[in-house]
Amino acid sequence: MRRKLAAGNWKMNGTAANLAELEALKALLPANAPEVLICPPAPLLFRAHEVVGDTGIQIGAQDCHSHESGAFTGDISATMVADTGATHVIVGHSERREAYEEHDSDIRKKAKAAWAAGLTAVICIGESGDDHEANNTLEIIAGQLAGSLPDATTATNTVIAYEPIWAIGTGKVPTLEQIVQVHDFIRAKIVTRFGAEIGDMIPLLYGGSVKPDNAATIFEAENVDGALVGGASLKAADFAPIIQALAAS
Ligand code: PEP
Repeated sequence: MRRKLAAGNWKMNGTAANLAELEALKALLPANAPEVLICPPAPLLFRAHEVVGDTGIQIGAQDCHSHESGAFTGDISATMVADTGATHVIVGHSERREAYEEHDSDIRKKAKAAWAAGLTAVICIGESGDDHEANNTLEIIAGQLAGSLPDATTATNTVIAYEPIWAIGTGKVPTLEQIVQVHDFIRAKIVTRFGAEIGDMIPLLYGGSVKPDNAATIFEAENVDGALVGGASLKAADFAPIIQALAAS
């Protein structure tokens, strides 16, 4: 059985006051909850870790630098992330690939840095709207998988999140058929590259406008093991039904 994961990416939203949403989420977790991960802004990592305590909710960062330390003003290293009690870090989110011109080779280095610090890397891939329109999705995904995933990828050190860029924050969601096609393709690629023992066990998340009202349908796909959720992870009342839908899938 592959592990299921409901991951929330708060992006650059929230101050200490928003940790109340974590308190609320604790109370709303179903008894059979899958793995739950919240990635708040970096200044909240320590406090978020304290708030979740031993509830099983895991805390992650939204990015890390590929170096352990050094003259990189404004950046945080994977070691620093781990020092907060966090267990995961998102790398290669499309907003960072676009705004900071991060390439597959940068993502690969960040994933390795995450592992070296004992963190699980949530590696994001996904095609642009133009590539989607031009039917280039599978080609783009294949390139990102080949370039972003280090050779030492395992089912415990890595989670892959497929996030079509045109679906992020837009309310547009691919059809279930499209999600199935891409996730089956990713599964086949990683099984070929890493072998069935690893490739069959790496959790694959779908991300892009996942909401309480569409989560159950998305989780019908055999190779969707959870979701990376932006907007709907900010409020416990929105994220809890998504977690419940995953638990029931
Ligand atoms: C994201 O930022 O990773 C994301 C999927 O955002 P949203 O759920 O808001 O589309």
